Amino acid sequence: MTASLYIHIPFCAKKCDYCDFYSLPAGTGSGRLFDLFTEKLLEDIGGQLRAFHVTEPASVYIGGGTPSLLGPQRMKTLLGFLSTAGGRHPPGEFTVEVNPESLDENFLRVCREGGVTRISCGVQTFDEWARRAIGRQGNVRRLGAALALLNEAYGGSFSADLISGLPAQDESVLLRDIETLLRYGPSHVSLYDLTVEEKTPLYRNASLSKLALPPAEQAARLWIAGRDFLEAAGYRQYEVSNFAPDGKRSAHNIVYWRMGTWLGAGPSASGTIVRGGGATLSGLRRTVKTDVRRYISVPGTETVTEHLDRNTLIRESFLMGFRYAEGPDAALFRQRFGCALESLVPETLARWRARGKMRNGLCALNREGLLMLNRFLTECFTEMDRSLLPRE
Ligand code: SF4
Repeated sequence: MTASLYIHIPFCAKKCDYCDFYSLPAGTGSGRLFDLFTEKLLEDIGGQLRAFHVTEPASVYIGGGTPSLLGPQRMKTLLGFLSTAGGRHPPGEFTVEVNPESLDENFLRVCREGGVTRISCGVQTFDEWARRAIGRQGNVRRLGAALALLNEAYGGSFSADLISGLPAQDESVLLRDIETLLRYGPSHVSLYDLTVEEKTPLYRNASLSKLALPPAEQAARLWIAGRDFLEAAGYRQYEVSNFAPDGKRSAHNIVYWRMGTWLGAGPSASGTIVRGGGATLSGLRRTVKTDVRRYISVPGTETVTEHLDRNTLIRESFLMGFRYAEGPDAALFRQRFGCALESLVPETLARWRARGKMRNGLCALNREGLLMLNRFLTECFTEMDRSLLPRE
């Protein structure tokens, strides 16, 4: 079976105030924990590749958390395992996420020699005050040194994340952040609008007025200014929050947006396995339980498995596919569901085309349409609910 592979490393040196990903704060004294985790992770990955008959993952993404916290030796073990477990050919794209604070030359050398084709670096902002306000570790000097090191010691493609809508951020601060980042020559940039997730320290601080965030409209204007700046610099928007010159899009993330098939290893990681089409269509979501200590200590890998029926898969194809600049994969959609996507929501598509929010000749939102993605999806689902979906 063809599938991509996501691997979740659930440790961070310190939790950022805005983060709701599953990761445990783990410091320098966590060597034994990291060793046990790495050992179990290999077992988990090997088991999943065998269970789903994946001999050569199409792409691999090691994210988290902070994969670079594992250090060069454990990463070498993991990459060595993947190169043998993953078959004869290296994956087409192989990404490892890093944080500037835990990045060193050795780690980058191990990545380069282990077949990693792409590093993804969490930058977020070069504004020292804003970094502290959102509880982000490290400082701007360390960040600059890490980006310079990426160019010197790694030399391959790297992607970087930035956040807009930060406390006290105005347009000049955001554009300066982007300009500074572009000087290091990333091949790909993700620009995320800060999301205030419930149960995070950021949410509590904002609710208690300890922290002033830009109002929603101002935050939206900021993000648009960032988008325009990136596009003018040659980084074309190809997904809601992602930008790259031609040929530098993230192949792994496109698998998610176009509802391909991927496996997820490591605590909290989810895989989606879609097979067949028409009467033989089957969908499965398999999520590894979110508890690193149980993950390490319990034999086997505890997972939660959910069967995805046809209607759920159709909705997910819309939810994910319309994030992407070229829209959902039309051929795959027809093969799986036995109908053209357009036939399910003809009125919504006609309305959005008339409003000038769709791309010419494509079943996809244009950049103005992408700004209203949630409204578009609500209209699509309302229309689908009104008409009877083709029977299973
Ligand atoms: S480094 Fe990334 S994963 Fe870790 S706490 Fe911060 S935002 Fe979350």
